[in-house]
Amino acid sequence: MKILTTNFVQCTVKACGSSPDCFPLHFDQQTEDMPLELAHEDVDYSPEFVYNILPRIDWPALLITAHELGNDQLPMNKPEIKDPRAPEHEQLLKDLHILLLETQITQGTMRCANCGHLYFIRDSIANFLLPGHLVP
Ligand SMILES: [Zn+2]
Repeated sequence: MKILTTNFVQCTVKACGSSPDCFPLHFDQQTEDMPLELAHEDVDYSPEFVYNILPRIDWPALLITAHELGNDQLPMNKPEIKDPRAPEHEQLLKDLHILLLETQITQGTMRCANCGHLYFIRDSIANFLLPGHLVP
């Protein structure tokens, strides 16, 4: 799954829906049999695309996710970009493109900070299906 996707998913346990701790899911608890794995996947670069998704990004959540994945390079506050083709924004938009769209989490575990449920990622696909006793 792309890092961008982590910014749009939360715990699916019904009781967690109203908790602020159900988002973002955390990468701070990995299992030995399925360690965290990241991979790079080329995606066509479009500064406009990054520019257009920026307003929908929960920046504090992205900072947490990036930190847990070992990236502390992001600015503390969401950058304000008026023109995606402006040269002064080129490096930042490219960096965000690489982080959000080209970095794949191919394997690992995401943890809900509210209920502790672990969501597994295998072959780049996160499994959000819940075991029977947790289905609403
Ligand atoms: Zn939960």
